[in-house]
Amino acid sequence: MRLTVEGLRAGYGKVQVLWDVNLAVEPGEFVAVIGANGAGKTTTLRAVSGVVRPWEGRVTLGGHDVTRLAPGQIVRLGLGHVPEGRELFPGMTVMENLELGASVRAEARAARDTTLEHVLTLFPRLAERRSQAAGTLSGGEQQMLAVGRALMSRPRMLLVDEPSLGLSPLLTRIVFDALAAVNREGVGVLLVEQNVVQSLRLASRAYVLENGRVVREGPSRDLLHDPAVREAYLAL
Ligand code: ATP
Repeated sequence: MRLTVEGLRAGYGKVQVLWDVNLAVEPGEFVAVIGANGAGKTTTLRAVSGVVRPWEGRVTLGGHDVTRLAPGQIVRLGLGHVPEGRELFPGMTVMENLELGASVRAEARAARDTTLEHVLTLFPRLAERRSQAAGTLSGGEQQMLAVGRALMSRPRMLLVDEPSLGLSPLLTRIVFDALAAVNREGVGVLLVEQNVVQSLRLASRAYVLENGRVVREGPSRDLLHDPAVREAYLAL
């Protein structure tokens, strides 16, 4: 399922955050968006998933124009979103949070047991904690749960917002390995990260966002060796 973003402008109130953002994720591709704090990465993902209404431009998913659709409708077309801050239900158990992920789409509800088994194999820690309230999990476990919940809707395209934030290197590794595994199964991934080195190692292609504009794009390998990228984001 292909994702395209064309001429996207968006903001909050009167403040414009994105200026003509163009990007695409091919079916099964792993793409990263890197950029500093406040560059507009989160806003880009929100505009794709329908949480933020674009001011101008077009978003398509699998050939459908989703620009004006509500978040639930976009999920039903096959988009998963692991949002910034995870947005779990802290008083509900791990299992209840996962089940909510499957509830939005008929085909996800039908395949609930198989998907659940798959998610718990991907994150055995969630299986151990299945009856625990989400709010009592560690930050890393909560991130696993946020990814797992999105996977429960059986997305063909997954948006992931800054999963490494506040996580130890070991837990970051577990979450990133899981994203790589999901991608190998054919799910397209659009990953937003400040952790530039790790995300460029995972993704095959990346976009650099600065002040709401795409200023560079290309194969991750090239960006990793680009002196301007290294100076701006790797402090080398
Ligand atoms: P971060 O890594 O901090 O999340 P980002 O690249 O994801 O950065 P955004 O979160 O998209 O950037 O924010 C871009 C700009 O929009 C920032 O100047 C931010 O202050 C502003 N902004 C973000 N969310 C809101 C909001 N809900 N209301 C008003 N302004 C917002």
